[in-house]
Amino acid sequence: MRRTYSHYGVVIGVLLGIVVGLQYSVVLGVIAGIAISAAGVFIISAIEKVIEKGIDAGVDVAGRKISEAMDRRKQNKSAQQSFCAKCGSAVEKTLSFCEKCGAKVNE
Ligand SMILES: [Zn+2]
Repeated sequence: MRRTYSHYGVVIGVLLGIVVGLQYSVVLGVIAGIAISAAGVFIISAIEKVIEKGIDAGVDVAGRKISEAMDRRKQNKSAQQSFCAKCGSAVEKTLSFCEKCGAKVNE
């Protein structure tokens, strides 16, 4: 079972019901307590649903952004590489010679 805070609605309702009961009348307090409890549970579970959806959407967006960034990094890496004509190993475009065999590249 997932964690929920909707029972706090009942706690708030009972507390406010007691306050109303002390201030006005017990009957009014009981009615207020039940009404606030019901409203509280409803509102809190509604908020939780929204938050849950928000988190799911956020995770989706974050996952997409991360994979996009990784794709871009891969593309950048391959764009920065060329291959040595002599030995065929990958050489960074910033280098003017092959690290493996020392042949000149990118000339
Ligand atoms: Zn080479």
